Amino acid sequence: NYYVVREPGRLIVEDRGGEMDYDLVIPRVEPIFGLVALCPGIRLQEMSMDAIKEEALRHMQELYGDKPMTFKVNARRSNKGFGVASMQIAADVGEYILDHMPNMTVNVKTPDVVLNIEVRNRIYMYSKIIKTYGGLPYGSSGKGVSLLSGGIDSPVATWMMAKRGVEVEGVYFHSPPYTSEWAKQKVIDLAKRIADFTGEFKLYVVSFTDLQLYLLENVPHDKLTIHLKRAMMRAAEKIAEKDGAWSLITGESVGQVASQTMQGIYAINAVCNMPVLRPLAGMDKQEIVDIAEKIGTFETSIQPFEDCCTIFVAKHPVTKGNLKRIKKSEEHLDDVIDDLMKKAIDSTEIIHVK
Ligand code: ATP
Ligand code: MG
Repeated sequence: NYYVVREPGRLIVEDRGGEMDYDLVIPRVEPIFGLVALCPGIRLQEMSMDAIKEEALRHMQELYGDKPMTFKVNARRSNKGFGVASMQIAADVGEYILDHMPNMTVNVKTPDVVLNIEVRNRIYMYSKIIKTYGGLPYGSSGKGVSLLSGGIDSPVATWMMAKRGVEVEGVYFHSPPYTSEWAKQKVIDLAKRIADFTGEFKLYVVSFTDLQLYLLENVPHDKLTIHLKRAMMRAAEKIAEKDGAWSLITGESVGQVASQTMQGIYAINAVCNMPVLRPLAGMDKQEIVDIAEKIGTFETSIQPFEDCCTIFVAKHPVTKGNLKRIKKSEEHLDDVIDDLMKKAIDSTEIIHVK
């Protein structure tokens, strides 16, 4: 019997069937973007000072028992029909608690506990505030397609843009049999974790084997990574156009690997017209890892199944991919690349993760 009620500045989740089961409700509400904090609390049945005092005492006793503690009462009254001013409510309730709980002392500057009382159309009371992720309501900023690998970075990048209200879809390029089913499952597991925040998540699994093998044989080996990334961007852009998305998202972080130099990013970026969002561009690895741990993708990301086979990784990759030369080595391959890409996209598997 859960209901969500809109109040100025608050969304109130109510269980009209009785006592709220916080262990059930908090984990479901916590990941919702656009919420700043959760305040597990109570709503009073009655609109009276007696009811406030009684509930306040019960709340404080239940949560804080007889441990020695400092507290203060914060009252806010937006409903002026309630005859007692907020200062008076705070003073009366404070005094009532002091009278009945010898373990409590008042400290207005740095209290251990702040008991909040909000007099709206009904009266609400809470003393715990759980900070959540903030951000913007999911989907309020338009759609983006995220290049999602099984690594640490791209799930974090995807999550960060989702947090800013971007409706995200994922594209994973895999190369069976060079990459295993395990690697694919890992990406699906990461998508599931993202879906805990977004509600659902559409994942494209594009088989890139033929295209990768073709590039392996036909471009200079030291520039293979850049050509491969360009092919991924092109394919992702096609999917984005088809789905009405306005941007691509990657987990690139400047300087992290050879292809993530300014020149590398320049050469990769030049292949597509859509804006490419790189929320991790200026972050250190440890900062990225910290977020991955916080949002619960890290453990999955570090499982050992690689998302790209070693035969496709250049031993001595260039760090200064010259766009002119890269374009030149792709020029005579363009038709085949287009054809292979079309085939890859046509045979895409779409997985709806919830
Ligand atoms: P990640 O930790 O996200 O795997 P990375 O540190 O391995 O990134 P790169 O391999 O250079 O860095 O990849 C840069 C970005 O390209 C990734 O963050 C991701 O957005 C995209 N990408 C790389 N490989 C794939 C893939 N197999 N499928 C989809 N996107 C990919
Ligand atoms: Mg990777």
